[in-house]
Amino acid sequence: MTETITNWAGNITYTAKELHRPYSLGAIGTLVAGSAKVRVLGSGHSFNRIAEPGPEGLLLSIADLPPVIDVDRTARTVRVSGGVRYAELARAVYAHGLALPNMASLPHISVAGSVATGTHGSGVGNGPLASSVREVELVTGDGGVLAIGRDDERFGGAVTSLGALGVVTALTLDLEPSFDVEQHVFTELPLDGLDPAAFETVMASAYSVSLFTDWRAPGFRQVWLKRRTDQPLPDFPWAAPAAEKLHPVPGMPAVNCTEQFGVPGPWHERLPHFRAEFTPSSGAELQSEYLLPREYAVDALRAIDGIRETVAPVLQTCEVRTVAADDQWLSPSYGRDTVALHFTWVEDTAAVLPVVRRLEAALDAFEPRPHWGKVFAVPSEVVRGRYPRLEDFRALARELDPGRKFANAFAQDILGE
Ligand SMILES: Cc1cc2nc3c(=O)[nH]c(=O)nc-3n(C[C@H](O)[C@H](O)[C@H](O)COP(=O)(O)OP(=O)(O)OC[C@H]3O[C@@H](n4cnc5c(N)ncnc54)[C@H](O)[C@@H]3O)c2cc1C
Repeated sequence: MTETITNWAGNITYTAKELHRPYSLGAIGTLVAGSAKVRVLGSGHSFNRIAEPGPEGLLLSIADLPPVIDVDRTARTVRVSGGVRYAELARAVYAHGLALPNMASLPHISVAGSVATGTHGSGVGNGPLASSVREVELVTGDGGVLAIGRDDERFGGAVTSLGALGVVTALTLDLEPSFDVEQHVFTELPLDGLDPAAFETVMASAYSVSLFTDWRAPGFRQVWLKRRTDQPLPDFPWAAPAAEKLHPVPGMPAVNCTEQFGVPGPWHERLPHFRAEFTPSSGAELQSEYLLPREYAVDALRAIDGIRETVAPVLQTCEVRTVAADDQWLSPSYGRDTVALHFTWVEDTAAVLPVVRRLEAALDAFEPRPHWGKVFAVPSEVVRGRYPRLEDFRALARELDPGRKFANAFAQDILGE
């Protein structure tokens, strides 16, 4: 490949034989049918080699396909091309008076790439973004097109698929009536005295709640509550309201963030932390995230507190969120109400990896499932043991992709093939 393609963070340069940016569905079919190995690159926001096809493979970007965003107001659904980013999708959906139930921290990511890795926002009642998907349309290994909907027994593997089943050209998502959200930020929530019941109360105090800490001191530096204006105003006695607008990464400008101080606004301008037109997060970073059963949340936070002095020197911010259980076989929140422990690290792989290993050892007893799109070192056989429906996914991959064109090194390692 003559062109150098890196991920958003710049820590991965993809190895591939060729890169193609087809303009039509027909061209995708021809390219896939004529290639031995294929991987689709979404918006490249993953921090590992999940999107890498390998030296003999075709790296396919579908970002140049004519974008389709077809809203059906009566059915309250939208059919969207896989390469469209959430920012563009959300604006179109909002223009029809409708809403997605939740968004990730940033709207810059592609729809197909996000649901493929189990990307999520926060909220005790909110599943990952994949929970909204009702149908996926795939170009499979022979170049043919296949639609798999919710009533198909294969659906459980089809959405959070790690990109290992085919090219997701379009998805149909459920929508709901539009709603407004206010964002309230508080500072200094102590960890002391936070028992499991109090943790549940804090995390359930608004539609979407995030806790942030740099672990330089115990407890949480910031609490972000995203309240739907059609739900009650939360009483939040545990921390003090912020005196100024804040960015979750200390020292970064709050102008990059969505509006705070309780100013109501449309769902898509409040549910993400970062504005579409600004760099999300710090922009110079690595990320890891571990999703574990919610009942372990407080014990897991105390375990991290116990290694604060190891974690803090390479940490920009840690975010704690909740995700409701879902039923995608490879979803990190499959079958369990989840707490998601996220780490934005400094941009230094050599310094970060030993800390990632130390952190994983501290969390191991809580059966964490690593986020598929982020940095982790948990051995694949351990990861495999945490997915009870893995064999069903393997069988689906064999059925849809008998030549294993879409199985790159990352997927083969995880699937144990
Ligand atoms: C600043 C920042 C903030 C983030 N915040 C969050 C967050 O709040 N919550 C969270 O859960 N994650 C978060 N992430 C992680 C991010 O959401 C995931 O890495 C997600 O997969 C990114 O989507 P993408 O389109 O960039 O996927 P890519 O990284 O491009 O690809 C991911 C996987 O999807 C596959 N894929 C992509 N498109 C297709 C397609 N059309 N057909 C088939 N397979 C496809 C790829 O082959 C690959 O396997 C964040 C990342 C960054 C950089």
